[in-house]
Amino acid sequence: MSPMLEVKDLKVAYGKIQAVKGISFTVDEGDIVSLIGTNGAGKTTTLRTISGLLRPVAGQILYQGQDISTVPAHDIVGLGLAHSPEGRRIFPRMSVEENLLLGAYGRKDDGIRKDLKAAYELFPILGERSKQPAGTFSGGEQQMLAMGRAMMSRPKLLMLDEPSMGLSPLMMKRIMSTVTTLQEQGTTILLVEQNARAALKIATKGYVLEVGKIVTEGTGEELLTSDEVRKAYLGED
Ligand code: ATP
Repeated sequence: MSPMLEVKDLKVAYGKIQAVKGISFTVDEGDIVSLIGTNGAGKTTTLRTISGLLRPVAGQILYQGQDISTVPAHDIVGLGLAHSPEGRRIFPRMSVEENLLLGAYGRKDDGIRKDLKAAYELFPILGERSKQPAGTFSGGEQQMLAMGRAMMSRPKLLMLDEPSMGLSPLMMKRIMSTVTTLQEQGTTILLVEQNARAALKIATKGYVLEVGKIVTEGTGEELLTSDEVRKAYLGED
């Protein structure tokens, strides 16, 4: 079976700055694939390019066998690929429910109420405070909202950019365990994280990025136990 997502020799630049310098990786259906690496490695740029928010200089992005590198961002969502961006980007003055419904924008089916209920089951606090302005939420609650909103487009592939950013260890654990729950419910996940340990623990496969290139890859377990990764990314001697 061909991979759900196949990125081939992808290059992305901001003017003269080359942010992604020819990376290749695959995401199979049912996987949690984690991209880890230090600040500025090109992780966010990679996700934004897959989402159609940036255009590659070279390379291919095959989603279910179709090259989507020139497909507009709103059509990419329609193909079943959702993106929960870094920094959450929720709309603070709109209510929690209005934020969630924005994730279903463009959907024409009548399953939206059902999916709203599923989001409230996944994150009960969103249901309890559905009428509250989203800007009153804590960082962790806003992260739940961002993930819930991304799920409202009914994605086959969910891309999460730094879901643990700024969260307490406890909240981070909850978010990571929810990522696993989503996988168990049938969503394939591409996860970008600075917190390498947390991201590799739940990953079926991981890739390490350094200044725009993939330097190591393996199963989550292989990377967690590799000396090189432990020294450079897990802060161990
Ligand atoms: P972080 O975890 O810090 O977000 P990252 O791995 O996601 O890091 P990117 O945000 O993709 O890295 O950045 C990759 C490189 O591209 C960096 O050198 C960054 O400075 C540069 N870059 C990112 N966005 C822009 C931009 N809008 N204009 C110019 N350069 C940019």
